[in-house]
Amino acid sequence: MFQSNISLKEYSNYKIGGPARQFFVPKTLEELTAGVEKAKQEKLPIFVLGGGTNLLISDKGFPGLVVKPEIMTLEGKDGVIRVGAGVSVADLLAFTIANGLSGLEWAGGLPGTVGGAIRGNAGAFGGEIQDVITEVVSLDIAGAPKIINRGHKESKFGYRSSIFKEKNGEEIILEATLQLQNGEKKAIQEAIESKIQYRQERHPMEYPNIGSIFKNVDWKDVPKEFQERFVGKMKKDPFPVLPTAVLLSETGLKGVASGGAMFSPKHPNFIVNTQGATAEDVKKLIELAKETVKDKFGVILEEEVQYVE
Ligand SMILES: Cc1cc2nc3c(=O)[nH]c(=O)nc-3n(C[C@H](O)[C@H](O)[C@H](O)COP(=O)(O)OP(=O)(O)OC[C@H]3O[C@@H](n4cnc5c(N)ncnc54)[C@H](O)[C@@H]3O)c2cc1C
Repeated sequence: MFQSNISLKEYSNYKIGGPARQFFVPKTLEELTAGVEKAKQEKLPIFVLGGGTNLLISDKGFPGLVVKPEIMTLEGKDGVIRVGAGVSVADLLAFTIANGLSGLEWAGGLPGTVGGAIRGNAGAFGGEIQDVITEVVSLDIAGAPKIINRGHKESKFGYRSSIFKEKNGEEIILEATLQLQNGEKKAIQEAIESKIQYRQERHPMEYPNIGSIFKNVDWKDVPKEFQERFVGKMKKDPFPVLPTAVLLSETGLKGVASGGAMFSPKHPNFIVNTQGATAEDVKKLIELAKETVKDKFGVILEEEVQYVE
């Protein structure tokens, strides 16, 4: 059932990370539950992997079971869609185009899976995954595995967070119900493609990366003495924020490298893997950014990416 000593580099968009002691790809709830029970018997910690697009995986790897649930339900009608956690956001968007369903256009080019997007309430261009979620089904693995159904309110979505993130690995998202609106296929497709193009032009896609390293800064946390200077850069995400890339651009860190990791000159909130970067290389740059931004602007940066160790 489990595979031993599997390199996580291959499952990380960053191409960084050591091996998983055990690795498991369940395709059904029954397989997943059996795997969780076996890991518990063997006293292995469990980590749930989605598309690996938001993870900084330790060079030592993960000393337990990495589960990658491939629950691939994707069905529905009249705008009510059931989607499995393992479905990629790209496949979900293709489904919305094919069926003329509007509400997720903002997610054009958002990498990763539906499970990862729900856990971190992924968002862009003023939209968030929570906007279309009506129900989330998860497997609580804190004790004996049990299914939990939550509505939107109980899922406690916030800025890049949800109850599933708060529970910190105690629940595995299985599937979600989405409410979308009927729309015109061509208009939906064009809106999605425009977001993909925007990303291709502005993000350093030429190197392996894990998206924005830090969350944007809540405008309320920008010290008063800097607000006038940055007011023109404020954006809605979905509440007023100062993009962290703006602060980083003013620190002179663009292009600064540690080993194979580098602050992207194109978008400094991306630390790219230019060649053979290690997790330690990236962590050094994360610390450097935090210190520099705190010293210069009095702002505490908070990671958006997740550490796996
Ligand atoms: C080029 C690029 C651009 C990006 N742009 C954006 C953006 O605009 N907005 C944004 O919000 N993010 C962005 N990201 C970050 C990332 O794509 C999202 O956070 C994405 O939703 C993560 O999904 P994933 O499946 O890859 O999750 P992973 O990276 O595999 O995991 C992320 C977290 O989710 C947990 N997780 C995954 N699946 C499940 C599950 N089934 N149940 C419970 N927990 C689970 C993992 O344990 C982990 O803690 C970007 C990343 C890249 C590389």
